[in-house]
Amino acid sequence: MSEHYISTPALHQWVTDLWLAAGSDTREARLTADHLVGANLSGHDSHGVGMIPKYVLSWQADELQLNRNVSLLHDGGSMLSLDGNRGMGQAVTEEAMALAIGRAKEHGVCVMGLRQSHHLGRVGHWAEQACAAGMISIHFVNVLSKPIVAPHGGSEARFGTNPFTIGLPVAGAQPLVLDFATSAIALGKVRVAHNKGIEVPAGCLIDADGVPTTRPEVMFPADGAAQGALQAFGEHKGHVLAVMCELLGAAVTGGHTIRPETLTHRHAVWNNMLAIVFDPQRLGTSTSFGGEVQAFADWIRSSRQQSGHAGIALPGEPERQRRRERAEAIPVDSGTLAQLDDAAARVQSVRGASPGPLSRLAR
Ligand code: NAD
Repeated sequence: MSEHYISTPALHQWVTDLWLAAGSDTREARLTADHLVGANLSGHDSHGVGMIPKYVLSWQADELQLNRNVSLLHDGGSMLSLDGNRGMGQAVTEEAMALAIGRAKEHGVCVMGLRQSHHLGRVGHWAEQACAAGMISIHFVNVLSKPIVAPHGGSEARFGTNPFTIGLPVAGAQPLVLDFATSAIALGKVRVAHNKGIEVPAGCLIDADGVPTTRPEVMFPADGAAQGALQAFGEHKGHVLAVMCELLGAAVTGGHTIRPETLTHRHAVWNNMLAIVFDPQRLGTSTSFGGEVQAFADWIRSSRQQSGHAGIALPGEPERQRRRERAEAIPVDSGTLAQLDDAAARVQSVRGASPGPLSRLAR
């Protein structure tokens, strides 16, 4: 499947205009574009503008709600319980993180539960928001949509790709950001492989009979056919981390864990998130902290390299490298481009306005 390039600022403007046309206020449209284009810029096309067709379906089904704010369910000072009210994840999570960062500045730490957000995208974005304020953050997230990941030892999907994320700011240096799905790969990466007509690496998928496969189409079967499943990363280790993301992200925050009774929607991806945000300065180690990080980074980089590897990277470095490479233009495959044109046409049919097809900006 062929690949097109779209100027990064033009793509950002198109996404902003699409959500303004759908009815978002300017803040929500801008934050949504910042986040989705930011995910593409970081190299995570799985969580970039390719999510828009799904968001538009969710909005058309009255599942995703525009222009919502978080509501405060419980205020314990350093403990905050928030409801995202099914709002656009890119907007309500920004608001929730700003509240948590404010409380962590005041109390040293904030444990924040956010329930019922629409898809909150690339979780590293929220860790970066905390890092920009000098805060360490740890995030456990569950995904409430059709189960797509098989438990370790199971051959049927039972949960989502439950991401786990840590952001670590370092004074005078770039932050370290660990941010990954607990599945061997994100479903969005299977979708991108499917759209491109290529296979996924071994160890990521099983077919509907539980047999390992590299064919992405097992996740996108024809109507009525049984779906395969993603596998957790690292055998039982990814599985147990995914279970904790489900329980800390949802059960502890008052959100729903994934079960047939809680899957009553058609198109939305709901996320629940537990975030622990704290100020490292308040541990009284600020004089040694940066030096220890730097010394450890130097030590691990001094390892002799294995053949076939380009170098030793720290968490967050691959994303920064991609941002440099994609600053001018972002690649979008033709399958995703067609889906985005269709999403704009659907906004046009509902609202009588849209930024027009994205494909006219592609080269
Ligand atoms: P991934 O497998 O690309 O791993 C990314 C992490 O590994 C980053 O921290 C990155 O800096 C680090 N990394 C990558 N290559 C490295 C290397 N060679 N050396 C050192 N570090 C390296 O990520 P993924 O599992 O595909 O997840 C992609 C995105 O999907 C994440 O941003 C995640 O938050 C998001 N996600 C969101 C949801 C949701 O429901 N909102 C669900 C699943 C995943």
